[in-house]
Amino acid sequence: MKAVVVGAGIAGLVAARQLGLAGWDVELLEKSAAPRPDGYMMDFFGPGVQAAERIGLYPRLAAVAYHVEAAEYVDATGRPTCSLDYDQFARLAGGNVLSLLRPDMERAALAALDDVAPGRVRVRYGAPVSRVWNDDFGVRVAVDGPPNVTIAADVLVGADGIHSGVRARVFGPDEAYLRALGMRAAAFIVTEPLLNARFRNRFILTDSIDRMAGLYSLRTDEVAAFMVYRDATGATGHQPSGSPRERLRREFAGLGHAVDRLLELCPEHPYDDVVAQIVMPGWQKGRTVLVGDACGAVSLLAGQGGSLAIAGAALLGDVLAPVATPAGISPALAEFERRWRPVVEEAQAAGRRAASSFLPANRAQRLLRRWIIRASHLPGIDRLIARRIVGRIAK
Ligand SMILES: Cc1cc2nc3c(=O)[nH]c(=O)nc-3n(C[C@H](O)[C@H](O)[C@H](O)COP(=O)(O)OP(=O)(O)OC[C@H]3O[C@@H](n4cnc5c(N)ncnc54)[C@H](O)[C@@H]3O)c2cc1C
Repeated sequence: MKAVVVGAGIAGLVAARQLGLAGWDVELLEKSAAPRPDGYMMDFFGPGVQAAERIGLYPRLAAVAYHVEAAEYVDATGRPTCSLDYDQFARLAGGNVLSLLRPDMERAALAALDDVAPGRVRVRYGAPVSRVWNDDFGVRVAVDGPPNVTIAADVLVGADGIHSGVRARVFGPDEAYLRALGMRAAAFIVTEPLLNARFRNRFILTDSIDRMAGLYSLRTDEVAAFMVYRDATGATGHQPSGSPRERLRREFAGLGHAVDRLLELCPEHPYDDVVAQIVMPGWQKGRTVLVGDACGAVSLLAGQGGSLAIAGAALLGDVLAPVATPAGISPALAEFERRWRPVVEEAQAAGRRAASSFLPANRAQRLLRRWIIRASHLPGIDRLIARRIVGRIAK
């Protein structure tokens, strides 16, 4: 059996590996010329942890994880206003939380393709998929070259992220499925030895209204920066016009020296995208199935994007592994959706609940957030807060 997987993000890499291990032939097509270096720190907990342990990916992830002691909110002078103990957060989330840089997660998943027999999974970077044909007899995708090629397969896995082109072509336009949560998020990495030395092992977050900048010191002289701000571009999450770097400089002026310095060093094209969820009535059509953010983005507010990408892709691999004839494909894909949808919906609900405290809209909401964080060490309250943040896991 043969699969084409579109998108070599975390979900696509894991789906390709699992199918390859099960003996499928896999073409993994990625539009970027190389693995993308962008992205911030991601909490890795919940279903992805069990899945990563089961498929043998966990040691590779643990090897690149960072040790975070606390998330510390600061005012414009850099003085802490409140902080959240990370070990406690880890306990509440079920005990096993890794802090991973997004590109490190992706590189670990790419390296894990070495576990597959040579030639089973062919990864092509610089291979944007521009067209898709999907019917009950198979799938074909067109890759814009050079060279321009068309690839036929038994199954098409759309793992091409929140703005999935596979979804647009097979299921319909973004507008039908993308639920914007009223914010944008940006992330970039800069080399800054002084800031790096000043903030070790802590997430630093500005205790600000309608916008929040965060930073984290990496192992080298680098600092990972993260910025979330209100989005006035409407419900569909269309990309606003103009330079994202200039927009960030405008939006984040006046938040203190550290943020000013990050903005000074910000690259011309940082990662900058709408904070949104993807909500769809069905993830399978003919021989096409979606996985990861493409069908069930939960948003960074749920803190589980990477975890669910791994767990969902691993499950997709499990259900397709025993399929040996085309007749088995549709029932396997239906089984994937039946088992996976409740987990995604739970995480999406947790993400929506987190929206107001994540980015306070006024002073009262900011005070409430401070109170919640300070109260988080009290027995009983801590579980309520964890439930609000991580959903079912904290039960
Ligand atoms: C550059 C980048 C930075 C990110 N930073 C953060 C962050 O800081 N915090 C956070 O919580 N989440 C971040 N995310 C989102 C996070 O990676 C996902 O929520 C999660 O990992 C699920 O991943 P995914 O594999 O489903 O989708 P993605 O990680 O979005 O991967 C989709 C892949 O598909 C590729 N692709 C898209 N269209 C095509 C096409 N037509 N042909 C071929 N390939 C295509 C993309 O280039 C991408 O590599 C980021 C995503 C990206 C792409």
